[in-house]
Amino acid sequence: QHAIPQATLETVLAKAAAGQVTDAVTTHIGYDDYRAAGGYALLSDCTEGRRDVESVIATMESSGLRGLGGAGFPLGRKWRIVRAEAGPRLMAVNIDEGEPGTFKDRVYLERDPHRFLEGMLIAAWAVGIEAIYIYLRDEYHGCRAMLEAELDKLRADPPVPEMPPIQLRRGAGAYICGEESAMIESIEGRRGMPRLRPPYVAQVGLFGRPTLEHNFESLFWVREILERGGEWFASHGRNGRRGLRSFSVSGRVREPGVKLAPAGITIRELIDEYCGGMQDGHDFYAYLPGGASGGILPASMSDIPLDFDTLQPYGCFIGSAAVVVLSQHDSAVGAARNTMAFFKDESCGQCTPCRNGTAKALALIHQPQWDTDLLGELSQVMRDASICGLGQAAPNPVDCVIKYFPHELNPS
Ligand code: SF4
Repeated sequence: QHAIPQATLETVLAKAAAGQVTDAVTTHIGYDDYRAAGGYALLSDCTEGRRDVESVIATMESSGLRGLGGAGFPLGRKWRIVRAEAGPRLMAVNIDEGEPGTFKDRVYLERDPHRFLEGMLIAAWAVGIEAIYIYLRDEYHGCRAMLEAELDKLRADPPVPEMPPIQLRRGAGAYICGEESAMIESIEGRRGMPRLRPPYVAQVGLFGRPTLEHNFESLFWVREILERGGEWFASHGRNGRRGLRSFSVSGRVREPGVKLAPAGITIRELIDEYCGGMQDGHDFYAYLPGGASGGILPASMSDIPLDFDTLQPYGCFIGSAAVVVLSQHDSAVGAARNTMAFFKDESCGQCTPCRNGTAKALALIHQPQWDTDLLGELSQVMRDASICGLGQAAPNPVDCVIKYFPHELNPS
């Protein structure tokens, strides 16, 4: 085991809390500093036989780490599934980060890029990956310049003798390219439109090959978990949940930002303990627990543990943990109109329930009086018949308004 270098995660997070997120990435831990502090020693341990694949995968499984892009698929299990497929196997890393309200990947990447790259290379080693494609949100200009420079340093002085080739691809400015199969289409040079599944990308992904697809943050945690042990990660959590979550908190709180907090924390605890409470003159009214697609809940439902699976009974989900806090100066109707307009713009247009459904829903919720029966039918069709998560989840905020905010629809 190696000592955790000076630039521990806590330091990174302290910087994240203190610094403005700007386009110029000047504060990151560069390759030389990362290596001087013990970085990439864990990767060497893996490739030189001091760690074996089985124990590494077992540690990831014991940590309970799940895909942090939003889908929540157990990371260790995914490694086993792709590893069991016949080679050559490829890897695609999703840093498209387009969910409104989500900025955690950017904050971590801007500060400690090699922690992510080392995790990525360990995953590639464990699964037997022949080539890696990183797909970076094109709006992150500063990140791209920084990451290209750091990748050049890594290639010029590789920490291990054999590294798979790494390609950095620019995103195309479309929200839907954050959906894993649309991202793969985009990397292959086609228009980013989701694929029908099965087959799953673990079996038939990039260029028809079995593909390990991961969100940035899932890989960012690999090194920390292997150094501290799976139990360390799993020992966090509240209300019966396990692990840590990076919440991107925005809205009417006093101290917005990326908050590393126990999985299962409630919104009330998150606001009070991590965000300095509400801003002056603002009372907690409602919250979006999972960005634009995760629904809207009223303040009266502030004791629900925030984690994968816990919000489904309420018609919501945590997704990539983008929490938007609303006050009495906002409205759930306004938020629903805003998110539906976003989905209408971002629908790839491939399937009718989503392409026409988002446009129809947007027109209906701009009426002074909502036709809730018709909106309910429309939501059901979109949920049942859309190809991908965009169309399936787009009605969530509208359904939540009807269920939890009837007073906004029928003001007395
Ligand atoms: Fe495209 Fe929407 Fe259909 Fe997804 S649900 S494939 S975004 S049209």
